[in-house]
Amino acid sequence: MLDGYNREIQYLRISITDRCDLRCRYCMPPGGVPPLRHADILSYEEIIRLARIFSGLGIRKIRLTGGEPLVRQDVPRLVQGLKAIPGVESVFMTSNGILLGDCLPQLVQTGLDGVNVSLDAVDREVYYQICRRDCLQQVLRSIDRALACSLPLKLNCVPNRWNRRQIVPLTRYAMERDIPLRFIELMPIGEGKNADGLSEAQVKDLIAEGIGPLTPAPDHDPAYKCRYFLTPGGGKIGFISALSHKFCRGCDRIRLTANGFLKACLQYDARIDLKPLLRETDETIRQAIAEAIRSKPQGHHFGLSPKQGDESGRMSQIGG
Ligand code: SAM
Ligand code: SF4
Repeated sequence: MLDGYNREIQYLRISITDRCDLRCRYCMPPGGVPPLRHADILSYEEIIRLARIFSGLGIRKIRLTGGEPLVRQDVPRLVQGLKAIPGVESVFMTSNGILLGDCLPQLVQTGLDGVNVSLDAVDREVYYQICRRDCLQQVLRSIDRALACSLPLKLNCVPNRWNRRQIVPLTRYAMERDIPLRFIELMPIGEGKNADGLSEAQVKDLIAEGIGPLTPAPDHDPAYKCRYFLTPGGGKIGFISALSHKFCRGCDRIRLTANGFLKACLQYDARIDLKPLLRETDETIRQAIAEAIRSKPQGHHFGLSPKQGDESGRMSQIGG
C-alpha cells in the first residue's frame, strides 16, 4: 500500500530476537543488553499470522534479522512458513554468519532466497576489536559454505575508525569470490551515537587508492537505497549511505521488532504495539498496520541535532 508520501511499502524487516552472540561496538555495549523475556517475543505462529496480514497490505519482500536471527532455534521452520504465504515473493536474512554454516542445508531447502552476511574485517585481530568475539574463522567458513551451495550472498560492512585499513583487503576478499560488498554508513542510533563511522566518500577514496577508482555499475540507480559501483577488476561495491546520500524518498520498508512493535521509520521512537492486537481479528490488526503505514514519517534527520521522539533503543533491538 502507499504511505502518506506516495511511497509503495513492500518490504518488511522482521527482527526475530534481540539476542546476539557478538558485541559489535557500534551496535551493542560490551556487556550486552538485558534480553527480552521469551514470553514477550512473538512466536513463529504469531509472526506468520502477522506476515499474512502484511502481505495482504502489499508486503512482497521479507528480511529476517535480529539481534542475530540464527541464535533463535528452528529458523528454517519460520522461513518455510513465510515462504508459503501468498503474495510473499522473497524471504532473505541478515546474519553475522557465525551459525550460518551449520544450518545452511535446511535454510536452502526451505527456500530462503539469500543471505547478507555482516563482515567488518578479514583480519582476526581487527574483527575481534570491532565485534569483541574471536569468531572470524567461523564466519569465513560459513561464507565458503554458502558459496558452495549457491545461496545468493552479499556482504555488509559498516566502515568505521577501527576497520579503516581493512577496506581494501575486504574489497579484495569480496572481489576474489565475486560477492557484492556493501558499505553501510554508520547511523547514530544506540551505540552508533558514540562510534566513529567513515563516510561513503572516505571509503571510495580508500578503494581508489588501493585498487582503483569506482565507476557506476550498469544497475546503478541513484534513487535506490543501495547504489552499486564497479572496481577496475569488476568487483561490485554498494553504498548504503543514510547520512551522505539520504534515500528516504524511495524508502519502501517497515520494521517489526521481536516483541511485536511495528516501526515505520528507523529513526523515530514511534511504534505501535501489535502484540495485544493478536487477541483481536485479522481485520483489526490490518487497520492498525495500515494506519501506521499511512503515518510513516517523511524521512530521518540524521546529522542534525537530536529531537524529542528520536529512537532511544539500540540497533540490535530494532534489526538494522
Ligand atoms: N546480527 C545480524 C548482523 O549483524 O548481520 C543482524 C542484525 S544487525 C543489527 C543488521 C545490520 O545492521 C548489520 O549489517 C549491522 O552491521 C548493521 N548495524 C548495526 N548497527 C549499526 C549502526 N549504528 N549503523 C549502521 N548499521 C548498523
Ligand atoms: Fe549482533 Fe548484528 Fe549487532 Fe553485531 S551488528 S552486535 S552481530 S546484532
